[in-house]
Formats: sequence, C-alpha cells, structure tokens
Amino acid sequence: MSERFVDLHCHSTASDGTFAPSKVVALAVASGLSALALTDHDTIGGVSEAAESARKAGIDFLPGIEISCDVPRPATMHLLGYGVDPQSPILHDLTRRLVQARDDRNPRIIQKLNELGVAITMPEVETEAGGEVVGRPHIAAVLLRKGYVTSIKQAFDKYLGQGAAAYFDKERLTPRQAIGLVNESGGIAVLAHPVQLRTENDAQLERIFKDLKDVGLDGLEVIHSDHDAALVQKYTKLADRFGLLKTGGSDFHGTNKKDIRLGVANGRRIPREFFDALVERLASLRKTG
Ligand code: AMP
Ligand code: FE
Ligand code: FE
Ligand code: ZN
Repeated sequence: MSERFVDLHCHSTASDGTFAPSKVVALAVASGLSALALTDHDTIGGVSEAAESARKAGIDFLPGIEISCDVPRPATMHLLGYGVDPQSPILHDLTRRLVQARDDRNPRIIQKLNELGVAITMPEVETEAGGEVVGRPHIAAVLLRKGYVTSIKQAFDKYLGQGAAAYFDKERLTPRQAIGLVNESGGIAVLAHPVQLRTENDAQLERIFKDLKDVGLDGLEVIHSDHDAALVQKYTKLADRFGLLKTGGSDFHGTNKKDIRLGVANGRRIPREFFDALVERLASLRKTG
C-alpha cells in the first residue's frame, strides 16, 4: 500500500533537479506517494507550481527549502526548512541573499575553468540552469555536454568539488542563522543527511545535535539515499533520544543523480507518519505562535 509512503526531500528545475515542479509531482503520483515536500536549494521558486499540481492530483504537499550552512571542512551541513510561508518577507530576503552568494561565486569558477583551458561561458551555464538558482551541477552539465568530462561525477572530481582545480566556496549562513530565519519564516528546521557531517565519533555527532537543538532545530532526516540500514537505525534512536522529529526523503534530482528514484532512499520507503508529524508540529506552532 504505497499511500503509506511519502517523499520529503527532492529537487526540481527551480534549483538543480532536471524535472519541472509539476513533473516531480506527477512522478510522486505515478509512484503512489500520498504526500510530497519540494526542497529546492536556496529557493521556493518551484513551490507554487508544485502545490497547485499536488492540489489538482489530490496528494498532500508541504513547501520546503534546503540551505547549505557554514561548517568547517570536510563537513557539509544542509538544513531543510518545512512549511515556510511563501509570502514571508524574511524568506524572500533569505532566498535573495542565498542566490546572491551563488552569483558572486559562479563567475570565479568560470574564470578559473577558462584559465585551465576549458571554454565555457556564464550565459551557457545560466541557460542550462533555467531558473534563478545557478550552481555547480549546472556547470557540470555544460562540461559534460561539451565533452570536457565523461560524467557529472568526473566534473566534480576534476574541477568543481571541494579541493578540485576550479573549486570556490560561497558565502554561507551559520546553522544558527539558517535555523532562525526558517523559524521566522514560519517553518521548522530539520538537519538533512547527517552522514554528510562526516563526524569522527558519536560524541561529536551528539554534540552537534544538541547545539542545533539549542538554537531551534526541530528534526533529523533519518532516512536518506546516503544512509544505509545501520545509519537509519542509529539516527532514528538519536532523534528519539533528543526529542527531534524524524523525516526522510530520497534527495531526488532527476537525471542529475541517475540512480535515485523519487520515493525511494537506498531501497527504503519513507513512512507517511513522518509527513503527518511535521504537519502536526506546524499546526501547533501556528496555534501558539
Ligand atoms: P552548489 O550548491 O552550487 O555549490 O552545488 C552543490 C550541489 O552539487 C549539491 O547540492 C549536489 O547536488 C551537487 N554535488 C556536490 N558534489 C557532487 C558530486 N561529487 N557529484 C555530483 N553532484 C555533486
Ligand atoms: Fe543538489
Ligand atoms: Fe543536501
Ligand atoms: Zn537535497
């Protein structure tokens, strides 16, 4: 019975996914999912189209956003904001700032690539992106199309990834800032794919959870395509211990991450209860807020 399943982490053409928001919803419907949250990087540009498609198709929908935070290398920390108010001026300021940080960085990557003898232009990358969020996956797609690399992975390994030849970081929010702004935008903040924190031991991991919870974190993404069964079990236990909501998603990006199917995270489905608990928490915030 697939109505029992949802997907709370996916990307559309509004950021670095390859399917339009309405198409992602159509895929959710075709996969028998009963609810979806769209979580594009740094934008809610796809949310209204997805919400409308979901309403027409009769599945439940939550607006979402994924924000990269400033943490020491080699860790990456992404926060998911669920139930943010698309009309919130704070949210608009936030997304404008995040998009600006990309726009400041991207030309530096292009210039470095040009210096390395790679003929690629900013307009080509912007055309590839199509939306306001222009990122490394779009640069990688152009490199692939022009034959400079043979895969997206190779584009990151050789040029775009941390430590690679044309790597430049972008300005990021601190975790506290990101959580605060998500909360002020009417949303709740969830730590995405904790495995990517690359912590060295459990004490370090638990310290991070505690610190984030102290500044307003509400949940932990326990099911994700990067989590094997042991990690799912571990994060589930920790979420319960820390009093954090549990969420899950595939991190579907369309053909940009070919092996990930909407609604399936490393062979695992995401239970409907995760969605219901988020909605319930949001409703109680609205009541008291
Ligand atoms: P950006 O936000 O523009 O810095 O690009 C980061 C995005 O690039 C991530 O959200 C991933 O979707 C993608 N990405 C990062 N590293 C890799 C990699 N090694 N292979 C494929 N995609 C990657
Ligand atoms: Fe992405
Ligand atoms: Fe992420
Ligand atoms: Zn994601």
